[in-house]
Amino acid sequence: MLKVKNLSAGYGHIEALIDVSIEAEKGQIVSIIGSNGAGKTTLLRCISSMLKPSSGSIEFLSEPIPGKPHKVVEKGIVHVPEGRRTFSGLTVRDNLLVGGYIHKGKQLEEDLEKNYKLFPILEERKNQYAGTLSGGEQQMLAIARGLMSRPKMMLLDEPSLGLAPMIVNQVYDLILKIRDSGITVLLVEQNARKALGICDKAYVLENGRISLSGTGCDLLNSEDIKKAYLGG
Ligand code: ATP
Repeated sequence: MLKVKNLSAGYGHIEALIDVSIEAEKGQIVSIIGSNGAGKTTLLRCISSMLKPSSGSIEFLSEPIPGKPHKVVEKGIVHVPEGRRTFSGLTVRDNLLVGGYIHKGKQLEEDLEKNYKLFPILEERKNQYAGTLSGGEQQMLAIARGLMSRPKMMLLDEPSLGLAPMIVNQVYDLILKIRDSGITVLLVEQNARKALGICDKAYVLENGRISLSGTGCDLLNSEDIKKAYLGG
């Protein structure tokens, strides 16, 4: 479904990604783990066309991804950024409507109702400003806003960042539900244990390069991964 081939990208003279190749099949959860500055966010920014790579290719459903971020959303890829980035001065409902901007009228209302069923807390808070939600609620809102575009694939950047363990578990349960609904998930995380525990396949990004890949189970049992990412 997604094929990233020999991708390199950076910022001025900083090389953030070097010759990166990854693949995701329909219905999979694919995790990318790596420490601070490894290039995880840069990879997602290239896939959603927010950053132009210096070389390499990205195909989605056997076609090159479009060069403009809004066209990528129309193709079916939605990017839920690190740090949630909800619109703090808009209500929960309006944040969701922004997420569904490519759809119209009746369909938009149906999608709102669907999301409220999946996230009852957002229905309770629908008229509240997003900026007043807790961190966990904002993460739910960011994911729900992404779902409003009816994606085929969701790019999730550090969804567990800064959340209490119980809330992290709720977010991960939700990621499974999203996968079960047929949406492919590319999950970027520093929380390696959680990300490897949930995925079908994982890649390790180190200093801009893929250093290792395998099933989540393989990597959880790897001595190198245990030492470097799972606290020994
Ligand atoms: P983290 O987990 O800390 O978010 P990451 O793995 O997502 O890290 P990136 O944000 O992709 O890493 O950053 C990769 C490299 O690119 C880092 O060296 C970073 O300093 C650099 N970088 C990222 N964004 C920019 C930018 N806008 N301008 C210049 N350098 C950048």
